[in-house]
Amino acid sequence: MKNKALKRLIYSLSILLTSLPFFSFAYISSLNTDTITSNGYKIKTIVVDAGHGGQHTGAGHFSPGASGSYSFERNVTLAIALKLQKAIEKDMAGIKVVLTRSTEDDVNWQKRADIANENKGDLFISLHCNSLPNRRVSEVVGHKHHKPIYHTYEVPDRSGKGVLLLVYGFHRTKEEEKAIKDNLIEDDSEMNSTIDPNDPESLILMNEYKRKYRKQSIHLAELINNEFVETDGRHSDGIREQGVLVLCHSAMPAVLVETGYINNPDDEAYLNSEKGQNEIVASLVRALQNYKNEVESVSQPQ
Ligand SMILES: [Zn+2]
Repeated sequence: MKNKALKRLIYSLSILLTSLPFFSFAYISSLNTDTITSNGYKIKTIVVDAGHGGQHTGAGHFSPGASGSYSFERNVTLAIALKLQKAIEKDMAGIKVVLTRSTEDDVNWQKRADIANENKGDLFISLHCNSLPNRRVSEVVGHKHHKPIYHTYEVPDRSGKGVLLLVYGFHRTKEEEKAIKDNLIEDDSEMNSTIDPNDPESLILMNEYKRKYRKQSIHLAELINNEFVETDGRHSDGIREQGVLVLCHSAMPAVLVETGYINNPDDEAYLNSEKGQNEIVASLVRALQNYKNEVESVSQPQ
């Protein structure tokens, strides 16, 4: 965990718990989880993750992602990630942006999560493009013994459009716990003593973290979604919880942004245009600014 104030709060919370002989779950649940973000918390590092990557050459890892009629998800996500890095560094003073990849080469998902955790990211934004699978169509092409003969074939489904936001679901909690633990137990000896997997108090603290990350991820997703819909007038499929590997291995609030349907001709044109990419980036920056202002102004717990 990068945040000293947060660590100190968790530490003092654990001391408080140890000193309460009759502490109960009822007491824990009465603690507002928001108070974990104490005064003085500042967002310093945002990890921007361009989904997929690699080349058709056969050399190196290749994660092609979705494709449109003339463009590929892996190129669109990289273009938006590079623009987003520039925009954050320009418009959000003091924030460092770490890219999980800055070239066309692919980086596997574990490495992406490692990069995020090693750089002590405060937020993780993963960029992707959506695509609908082909539709199966059955047609009666004749009859045999009075029974219809079907011919089944696939047609592209280009009906998907707009954005979709994903946050990690709950069924990945084991991996997520490990990531949180690894991030907590790093350099701070006072924290080492408080995170013991066999200790019920540690587990309660861990659960507080998980709840907090999930809540913060959903909230950030809401802010992003609002910008896309309200400011850019885009269609949205909403916010969904899903077990996304790269998200649950990053021990920080994390949102996966499906920036549009690359196999829809209108969305593909938008995703490849300067205007579209700039709008997406501007909306992400506004949402991140709002999020930053909110979490940094949470009042000190009484
Ligand atoms: Zn993708």
